[in-house]
Amino acid sequence: MKKLILFGPPGAGKGTFSSQIIKVLPNIVHISTGDLFRYNLKNQTPIGLEAKKYMDKGALVPDEVVIGMVQDKLNQDDVKKNGFILDGFPRTLKQAQALSEITQIDTLLLLDVPRNVITKRILGRYSCKKCGAIYNKYTLPPKKEGVCDNCGAEIKFEQRSDDTEETLKKRLDVYEENAKPLIQYYEKNNAVKKVNAENTLKLTEEEIKNIIEI
Ligand SMILES: [Zn+2]
Repeated sequence: MKKLILFGPPGAGKGTFSSQIIKVLPNIVHISTGDLFRYNLKNQTPIGLEAKKYMDKGALVPDEVVIGMVQDKLNQDDVKKNGFILDGFPRTLKQAQALSEITQIDTLLLLDVPRNVITKRILGRYSCKKCGAIYNKYTLPPKKEGVCDNCGAEIKFEQRSDDTEETLKKRLDVYEENAKPLIQYYEKNNAVKKVNAENTLKLTEEEIKNIIEI
């Protein structure tokens, strides 16, 4: 039974890496804060209603509410039995300290990707408007320029308006600022494992098992 945190900057490929872990640990529960929010809001749980109060005002949902959602999930039987991968939590030292009151983590997997790679991944991302196939201007262009591999529709790279170099730089700066004390906190318990995440899709099952120590 493994209790893991996936940690890394936006664009580090946390989703891809967690599906790699699930291949070797099929029963482990993937807990993303995005999913927790959607679940609690949709089902109008007490904690979901509490979160909605802040969201309706356009305010940031306070830590206590997010921690409450995570705690509810960690108390579920399947999570206790099969372990978990936390994705998107904790993001700050304060959240990490709150988490340690709830449970003891085995490993924080620190996905390490150079900034220039992240910039290309995020800023080059686009999709086919017809079928939704995902492409990347730099790393994953269609086989024939301007034509979707999947459905044959005409496609063109367009920069998403919310992903400019400037906003991305800010997001990465905020990440780094929060990451530093959080990583130091887990390093004290020797719980940090750095993973070169430039191409996690190429990792073999053996390599994944090695990383998560099973
Ligand atoms: Zn298409």
